[in-house]
Amino acid sequence: MSFRLPMHQRLSNALTYGEFRIFYQPVIDLQTGRIVGAEALCRWPQRDDTFSPPETFITQAETSGFIVQLGEWVLRTAVTQMSEWHKRFGDDLQLAVNLSGRQFLHYNLLKSIEDTIRASKLHPSKLEFEITETVAMQNAEDTIGILRQLKTIGIDLALDDFGTGYSSLAYLKRFPIDKLKIDKAFVRDIPDDANDLAIVSAIIAMAHALGLRVQAEGVETQAQADFLRDCGCELAQGYLFARALPVDEFEAMISKERPQPSVQA
Ligand code: C2E
Ligand code: MG
Ligand code: MG
Repeated sequence: MSFRLPMHQRLSNALTYGEFRIFYQPVIDLQTGRIVGAEALCRWPQRDDTFSPPETFITQAETSGFIVQLGEWVLRTAVTQMSEWHKRFGDDLQLAVNLSGRQFLHYNLLKSIEDTIRASKLHPSKLEFEITETVAMQNAEDTIGILRQLKTIGIDLALDDFGTGYSSLAYLKRFPIDKLKIDKAFVRDIPDDANDLAIVSAIIAMAHALGLRVQAEGVETQAQADFLRDCGCELAQGYLFARALPVDEFEAMISKERPQPSVQA
């Protein structure tokens, strides 16, 4: 019975038997309100119609090292999906994929990424990797080296969950990143918490001074979106716009905004 198997075996079986899914959370341009991209988020459906919480199974996959295989599958699947969406909905959509600490330090990361992108024909600038602030800072000098290599491929880089780790501003300046993602912990109490208002507007101002774009996560109310837009935050994702959606629901949402050209007879 599968629930008696050790977790690494269950995860490995789940990949073998095609149990994992990727959901896509729309990323919204706060000025225009349009979808400009999607973050790929891994889902593991269970027999009782629930989903195993990503925070739990991704952490377990990290601990056992299985995240390297799972991460390669996520990247391959999401990149293939996005190249198909480019043909249908326009090639300006950007795909964000999370990269875990273990993957980040894996010796074969760059080769595997290059092979995947080449096979999918997705333009590298339409792919963005999200690395959490905590992972980036754990070994900051190595991080800089790896990020530089990723930049040479032409991929965009974002620092995820910004504000929750221990960022050294000296390193922040040296990381070749394109974007900061403000953690949802700071967004949650906007516009009521004066401290969060101050922190969020300071993060946006600092990011802009460093030439970075800013994306807020966890945007759930119009008041939060309005405040962020007025502070100059360019992008947002959150339940106000959409949850992470299965492929068909993402397509239904984007089809309303970007009607597909009718096929000529
Ligand atoms: P993350 O990369 O910071 O992803 C954002 C998380 O916030 C997602 O949780 C998303 O569903 C959730 N979220 C989005 N909008 C809202 C909102 O308005 N309110 C609230 N409260 N939450 C919102 P999820 O999907 O449970 O993923 C949790 C974490 O698991 C992710 O955090 C990421 O670190 C990790 N993860 C998920 N998929 C992958 C993957 O394929 N690879 C790796 N390495 N990590 C992944
Ligand atoms: Mg993320
Ligand atoms: Mg995040």
